[in-house]
Amino acid sequence: MEKQQFKAESKRLLDLMINSIYTHREIFLREIISNASDAIDKLAYTALTDDKVGISRDQFAITITRDPDSRTLTVSDNGIGMSREELEENLGTIAKSGSLGFKQAMEKSEDIDIIGQFGVGFYSAFMVASSITVISRKYGEDTAWKWVSDGADGYTIEPTQKDAPGTDIIMTLKEDTEEEKYSEFLEEYEIRSLIRKYSDYIRYPIRMEVTKSRPVEREEGEEGEDKTPKYESYTEMETLNSMVPIWQRAKKDVTEEEYETFYRDKFFDYNKPLRIIHSSAEGSVSFKALLYVPGKAPYDFYTKEFKHGLQLYSSGVMIMENCEDLLPEHFRFVRGVVDSQDLSLNISREMLQHNRQLTIIARNIEKKIKSELKAMQENDREKYEQFYAAFGRQLKYGTVSNYGAHKEACQDLLLFYSHKQGKLISLKEYVDAMAEGQEKIYYVPGENKDRLAKLPQVETLAGKGYDVLLFTEDVDEFIPQTLMTYLEKSFCNASSEDLGLQTEEEKKQAEEKAEELKGFLTFVKESLGDQVKEVKLSANLGSHPVCMTPEAGMSFEMEKYMKRANPEFAFPVGRILELNPDHEAVRTLQRVMTEDPVKAKDYAQLLCYQAQLMAELPLEDPFAYTELVCKLIN
Ligand code: ADP
Repeated sequence: MEKQQFKAESKRLLDLMINSIYTHREIFLREIISNASDAIDKLAYTALTDDKVGISRDQFAITITRDPDSRTLTVSDNGIGMSREELEENLGTIAKSGSLGFKQAMEKSEDIDIIGQFGVGFYSAFMVASSITVISRKYGEDTAWKWVSDGADGYTIEPTQKDAPGTDIIMTLKEDTEEEKYSEFLEEYEIRSLIRKYSDYIRYPIRMEVTKSRPVEREEGEEGEDKTPKYESYTEMETLNSMVPIWQRAKKDVTEEEYETFYRDKFFDYNKPLRIIHSSAEGSVSFKALLYVPGKAPYDFYTKEFKHGLQLYSSGVMIMENCEDLLPEHFRFVRGVVDSQDLSLNISREMLQHNRQLTIIARNIEKKIKSELKAMQENDREKYEQFYAAFGRQLKYGTVSNYGAHKEACQDLLLFYSHKQGKLISLKEYVDAMAEGQEKIYYVPGENKDRLAKLPQVETLAGKGYDVLLFTEDVDEFIPQTLMTYLEKSFCNASSEDLGLQTEEEKKQAEEKAEELKGFLTFVKESLGDQVKEVKLSANLGSHPVCMTPEAGMSFEMEKYMKRANPEFAFPVGRILELNPDHEAVRTLQRVMTEDPVKAKDYAQLLCYQAQLMAELPLEDPFAYTELVCKLIN
C-alpha cells in the first residue's frame, strides 16, 4: 500500500510535538478523550431527530483498554465516526481548530512550554506513541476504515470491518528509555489520575476495566489459626469520571484553577481570563451559564472571521457550538457555555433563533455581563483598564451601532482620556467632577492626546477649571452624536462648537466687533477663495492667532475617517477660519490690507496654512506653502 504524506505544516507541528518536554506528554489523553466526547456529541445530536441511530443516551460511552502485552492503549467511542475522506482530511492536515490555535501561538513564541496549555489535538498522541491506528466507521455507512501512521513519514489507509459506528484510537506506546517511562500510561493508577485531572467533567462515562479485590469468607475448618482476612481480586468495568460538567457544580465547589483550566481547554486561550461569571437562574426559564471575559482580544477579533457566540447545551447535549443569538454583538468578546433544560431538545438549529426561551436567556445574560463589567470598573480598575484596552473599541461600536439601540447597555462602561485628571475616566466620573457653573461635557477629537492638549480651546477651558475629554479613536466622535446627552448634560465639541462661555454682554461686544471688522473679514475670505467656507472672529483663541474649525455639526476627524473607511462617500467638510482680533499677527494683517493689499493676500494665505497645520489637516499643495514662505522671507 502506498504511503500518503502529511501536509508540510502538519509535519512541522508533528516534529514539535514529538520533541516536546515530557511533563506535557500526558495531555495527549485529554485530547483524545475530548475528540471522542465531541464525536459522541455529534451522534447524540443526530439521534434527537433521527430514529435510526438506535442508541439511547445512556449507552454512549468512551472506553479505555490497556494491553501491556502489545503495549497498546486504546480509546474507543461510539460516536459519529469518520468516513475515509474525513480521516484523510482531519488526520492528514492540521488546519483544524485546536491545532491551529496552537500553531499560531507557536509562531509568535518559540517557547515550547506553552504546549501543555493548548488544545493541541489528535497529533499530541505522537508524543507518547510510536505508531497509531485509527479504526473508524461513520454513522450511516457500512464500510469502516483503518488509518495507520508512525508519525514520521505519512500514513496508510485501507478498508476494514467494524460492528458499530464509532472510532477506536489504538496507540502503541514508545519504548521506555532511561528518562522516560512511556509504559506508565498503561498503568491503571496513572490513567485514573489523568482522567480525574483533565477529563473529569466529560459528560459521557469514561470506562475502564479495573482490578479490585474483595474479602472472601474462610471456609469452615480451614487449617491454622490465621485470622487475617482473605482477599481475592477480580476485574470490573468502572466509570472514572464524575461526569458533572463544571457549570453544573456549585460555585463554592469549583476552584479558581478548575475554572481557568476549563477555559483554556475549551477556548484555546492561554491568557488568564479577566473575569469569570458563573451564574444560575431559576424562573420562567432556568439555566446555568459559565462565562469568561478574556484578557486579550484574539488576533482576528475585529474582523468578520471572528466567530462569536456561546456554546449551547440543552440538558447536557450540546446543541450548538457558537450560538450567536445568546450574546449581543456589543459583548461579543465573552466566551462561555449556557445549559438549559427548558429548551426543547428536538428543536432545529434554525428554529432556535425565534425561540422565546432563548430570548429570555439572552436578555438575562446581557444584564449579567453588564453588571459584572460595571462592578469590575468600580472595584477593580486596573483589570478593567486591561479589559478596556482589549475590548473598549467594541463597547464604543456597540454604543453607536443601530443608531444607539444598545446605548443603555454600553454607555456606562465607556472610558475616555481626561485632560484634567490625566487618566481614563467614565462619563459618570466626568459629570461628577464637573466644575461649578460648568454646563457641558467638553471633548476634542484628534489623532494624538498631546497635540490635542495644546489646542487653544483646551487651554481656554482648562483655564476655567473645566475638564476636556480627548477623543483619539475613530469611533469616539460618533458617541456624543448618538447619546446626545449623558445624565442630562449635553456634549460640546470644543474644537468646533461655541464653548458657551461668553456672557450676554461679551456676546454683544463680539458682535459689534465683527460688524466693525466686516470689511477686513470679507477681504480675507476673498483672498482665500474656495479654501474656506467662512472667515470669522473668535474669542477662544488665547495666545494663538488663528484656528480652523469645521462647519457646524461636522468634524475633520469624520472627514478623515470617511476617506479611509468609505472613500466613495467621502466629502470635504467645510472649513471655517477663525481669527483672534487681539493677536499681533492679525492686527498687522489688518494694517497691511490698506497699505499693500497684494502682500496682505499672501499673509492671509500664510495664516490659513498655519490654521490647517494646527488642525492636523493635510496641506493640499505643500510646495505652494514652502514657496510662499520663501517669497515672504525674500
Ligand atoms: P480538533 O479536535 O481541535 O478539531 P484534532 O486534531 O484533535 O483537532 O482532530 C481533528 C478532527 O478529527 C476533529 O475535529 C474531528 O472532526 C476528527 N476526529 C478526531 N477524533 C475523532 C473521533 N474520535 N471521532 C470522530 N472524529 C474525530
